[in-house]
Amino acid sequence: METIYTVEWMKQVARQARAEGRLVGLVPTMGALHEGHASLVRAARQQCSPVVVSIFVNPAQFGPMEDLDNYPRQIEADREMVEKLGVDYLFAPTAAEMYPGGYRTYVNVEGMSGVLEGRSRPGHFRGVTTVVLKLFEIVQPNFAYFGRKDAQQARILRQMTGDLNLDAEVVVCPIVREADGLALSSRNAYLNPDERRAAMALHGALRTAEKEITAGERDALHLVATMRKVIEAEPLASVDYAEIVDADTLEPVTRLRRACLVLLAVFIGTTRLIDNMLVEERGGAFLVSI
Ligand code: AMP
Repeated sequence: METIYTVEWMKQVARQARAEGRLVGLVPTMGALHEGHASLVRAARQQCSPVVVSIFVNPAQFGPMEDLDNYPRQIEADREMVEKLGVDYLFAPTAAEMYPGGYRTYVNVEGMSGVLEGRSRPGHFRGVTTVVLKLFEIVQPNFAYFGRKDAQQARILRQMTGDLNLDAEVVVCPIVREADGLALSSRNAYLNPDERRAAMALHGALRTAEKEITAGERDALHLVATMRKVIEAEPLASVDYAEIVDADTLEPVTRLRRACLVLLAVFIGTTRLIDNMLVEERGGAFLVSI
């Protein structure tokens, strides 16, 4: 595996691979890699060669009061992990390489970027779409792999690739969870043992809603109220948002229909965690992917 630090070298390597008619796969990450990231790499390796993993803690997607400086960084452990997974190139540029002095250009997906995560984290998705567009230009991937853990992000990126006629196809992979249901996240490292237990409230709330859906409940407001109750029963947890939205438009729904996303953002102490499940109508029944 080769580690690449500069945009120019990454471009050259990617250009060469495309010229040889190979399928280039890209897995963009912020590092502190775990099994969730590994699942994306495995999906990429099934379809693509070479596979490029990028590690870049993107300053543009962090708000001024967020955890940019404290975000876990462990490049050596990450390098070992992706090498074992059979990754061909690790692209690890510096912030100055990606945003040199005088940088001025940002891309924004209107509307969708201002709801849910975007309402709680103004400017976040503008940073995400900008860095992903830059990565797509640098790596020229045929396929780019993202997790449904960040369902709104995946939807926004798919919108961007369509709107801007990009070559890269966005592939969305399932959520990888701990044995007890907690969605893997680099931010789980912030949790102390009590908070780790409390973090179960997110998955617990989704499971409770799933049970109600299976029993026939279709009223979105009722389901949201149920989830809030589960989370509020946990003293260390406080809800940032709990919403059910149309999976395509990301607009709130009052009743389950077609495909919906059930989305949670919850503070556990000072750590903000997100989780979600997808509910899809199939011949009158609703199929839940958690
Ligand atoms: P991050 O490093 O947090 O920016 O995540 C990089 C990619 O990994 C994003 O596409 C995430 O959605 C995905 N990812 C993070 N956690 C998980 C998980 N538990 N299961 C599946 N994908 C994940």
